Amino acid sequence: MQAMDKQAYESFRDTMRRLAVNKVAPHAAEVDRTKQPPVKSHAGLSEAGIVGLGFPEEFGGQSGDLLSQVIAVEETARVCATTGLTLMTGWAALDPLIRFGAKELIGQIVPSVAEGKTIAGWCLTEPQGGSDLPALKTRAVREGDEWVINGTKRFITNASWAEWYLVLARTGEKAYGIFMVHRNDPGLSFGKLESKMGLRGSPTADVIFENCRIPASRAIGDTTKGYEYMTVSLTISRPLIGAQALGIAQGALDEAVLYTRDRKQFGQSVSRFQMVRGMIAEMAVKVEASRSLLYRAVEAIEENPTNGRTLASMAKMLCSDTAMQVATDAVQLHGGYGYLEDYPVERMMRDAKITQIYEGTNQIQRLIIAKSVYAD
Ligand SMILES: Cc1cc2nc3c(=O)[nH]c(=O)nc-3n(C[C@H](O)[C@H](O)[C@H](O)COP(=O)(O)OP(=O)(O)OC[C@H]3O[C@@H](n4cnc5c(N)ncnc54)[C@H](O)[C@@H]3O)c2cc1C
Repeated sequence: MQAMDKQAYESFRDTMRRLAVNKVAPHAAEVDRTKQPPVKSHAGLSEAGIVGLGFPEEFGGQSGDLLSQVIAVEETARVCATTGLTLMTGWAALDPLIRFGAKELIGQIVPSVAEGKTIAGWCLTEPQGGSDLPALKTRAVREGDEWVINGTKRFITNASWAEWYLVLARTGEKAYGIFMVHRNDPGLSFGKLESKMGLRGSPTADVIFENCRIPASRAIGDTTKGYEYMTVSLTISRPLIGAQALGIAQGALDEAVLYTRDRKQFGQSVSRFQMVRGMIAEMAVKVEASRSLLYRAVEAIEENPTNGRTLASMAKMLCSDTAMQVATDAVQLHGGYGYLEDYPVERMMRDAKITQIYEGTNQIQRLIIAKSVYAD
C-alpha cells in the first residue's frame, strides 16, 4: 500500500474531517435512534473514494496505506462510530482474502465492496465464546468440488446487510480454514438482530450455517492455515478499532470543550473553573498519548505485521480505555444535559464501551502484551 509524506497525511485528515462533518455527522443521531444501517453516510464516503482506501487499486480500491485508513476511521468515528465501524469492517473482513486468497476470488468479491455497492462481514465469534477462538466449533468438510459448512457465528457485524461473509471454520482436529460465503448460498441464514447499548445502526446478528455448500474455489489459501492467516489480519484490524475508539474520544473531547466554553455558572463560563480545566487537560493528554501509540503501532505493522502484534494490542487497549474514560468525562462536563439524547456525548459514551470488548477484549489484549513482555 502507498505511503504519503507528513504534509499529505495532514491534508488528507483535513479532507476527511470535512467529509465526515458534511456527509456523516448529519445522519449520526438518526442512525442511532432508528437503529438503521448508516446507508447514507456510507454512500457519502464511497462517492468520495474513501471506502476503496483499504483495497488494492488492482481490484478497484485506492491502495491507501494503514495510516491513511486509520485517519479515515478516526475522523469518521469522531462524528459517528457506527459509520466508522462499517468503514473498517469491510477492510478487516476482506484482509485475509486479499493477503492469502486467489486472484480470481479477490476479483469476484473485492471490486463491488471497494465501490461501496456491497458490504462485507467477518465471522469468528461463536455462541460458546469469542476469547477462546481456537475452541471454535463451526466445521467445514470437503465433499468433492464443494465445502460443506455447519455451525453458528455470533455477534456478526453487518449480518444480513452484507453480501459476503468471511468465515473461520475448523477443517481438522487442530486445523482451520477461511471461506468466503455469499448471502444467497444454500444453507445460510441469520438470527434476530440484536438490540444493543451502542453502535445501534450497525446490524449485529447470528450467521447460521446448516449444510451450507460453497464451491471449493471459495476457500482462502491453505485450508489448514486459517488461524495463522487470521492472526495477521487481527494485527491489522486492531489498530482500526483503536482508530474508531480514538475518534470517539476526540469527538467527545471536542464536544466537552465547546459545551464548557458556552455554559455559564456562578456568572462565568464553566471552562474558567480549575477543576473543569484539569479534567479537560487530562482528557487531552489521554487522547494525544493514545494517538501517539496508535501511530507508532501502525508504523511497526507497516514494517512487519508479525513484529507489530504487541503494539497493535497496546494501541487497541489504550485507545479504547481512553474512549470510555474521555466519553464518560465529557458526559460529566455536560452536567444533566450530558444524560440526554439531545447531546452527542450520550451516544458517544454508549458507543465507546464496545471498543473495550470486541476485536479481542482488553483482558485478552493484556494477555498478549504480558506474553510478549515476559517473552514466554
Ligand atoms: C457489537 C458487537 C459486534 C461484534 N462484531 C463481531 C464481528 O463482526 N465478528 C466476530 O467474529 N465477532 C464480533 N463480535 C464478538 C466479539 O469480538 C466478542 O464478543 C469478544 O471477542 C468477546 O467474546 P465473548 O463475548 O464470547 O466473551 P467471553 O470470551 O465469554 O469473555 C467473557 C469475559 O471473560 C473474560 N475472559 C475470557 N477469557 C479470559 C482470559 N483468558 N483471561 C482473562 N479474562 C478472560 C473476557 O475478557 C470477558 O470479560 C462483536 C461483538 C459485539 C458485541
